[in-house]
Amino acid sequence: GPVWLNQADRDDGQPQFVMVALHDLTHLRRAERMRVDFVANASHELRTPLAALLGFIETLQGPARNDVEARGRFLDIMKSQAARMSRLVDDLLQLSRIEQRQHLRPQDPVDLVEITKSVLDSLAPLAAERDVEIVTSFPDGKAPARGDRDELIRVVENLVENGIKYGQSGKRVDVTVRTDSREARVIVRDYGSGIPPEHLPRLTERFYRVDIGDSREKGGTGLGLAIVKHIMARHRGRLLIESPEGQGAIFTAVIELDEGKTGA
Ligand code: ADP
Repeated sequence: GPVWLNQADRDDGQPQFVMVALHDLTHLRRAERMRVDFVANASHELRTPLAALLGFIETLQGPARNDVEARGRFLDIMKSQAARMSRLVDDLLQLSRIEQRQHLRPQDPVDLVEITKSVLDSLAPLAAERDVEIVTSFPDGKAPARGDRDELIRVVENLVENGIKYGQSGKRVDVTVRTDSREARVIVRDYGSGIPPEHLPRLTERFYRVDIGDSREKGGTGLGLAIVKHIMARHRGRLLIESPEGQGAIFTAVIELDEGKTGA
């Protein structure tokens, strides 16, 4: 086998390859544990709405068979549970598609100003429903980059949606696109209760939530930020998360500008 170490260089007499092997094993074990946790979490997330659906179906076949009023109410609940499962499966599929193509950097010409404006148009009804005012700031001209438009739409959509969901009703959400000579930034700032610092490092893990009940109630799948992180990685970009104590949260997606294309 390969000689990894000149034993004479070491003073404890232990060959270094043992350390390397242990290190790799820890890494593999962690990856394996994350995979097992992921499957367990995903199954659990699907089982919860499924159990509710089965319960309501049985009730409708049995005790509530002839109760017209209950039937309408139960069907509404069943529809929302089925919608939740559908969102979850969509998110799982998207996450796995992005992961499969992680090494392929998307190269279509895109404009982050156009992308952000189009996301804000589609989220206007949600903002109105939650009584949130979106305050925008855009650069003059474009923010040209290379990427996958649908995926970058998903990034901005997730961040703004979270700002609306976790921000405070009646308050604003600031959405800013800013460019410098090298990079474009989409900055989403809300004025909700923010994120306690101990949660920040784990926020982009699959199914990680600060408050599961709160996320569920708001229709979350717990996969949004994991998807955002993977998309940004595929674009060789970055996601920054800050939460100044008691002043809401700031999410910033950073992506390299397409050289020499800045301006109108
Ligand atoms: P979810 O579907 O639960 O919203 P995400 O992956 O989008 O999943 O976010 C993960 C968790 O991060 C959320 O459940 C929430 O606890 C926290 N979070 C995300 N965005 C914000 C925000 N703007 N303010 C406070 N907490 C947030």
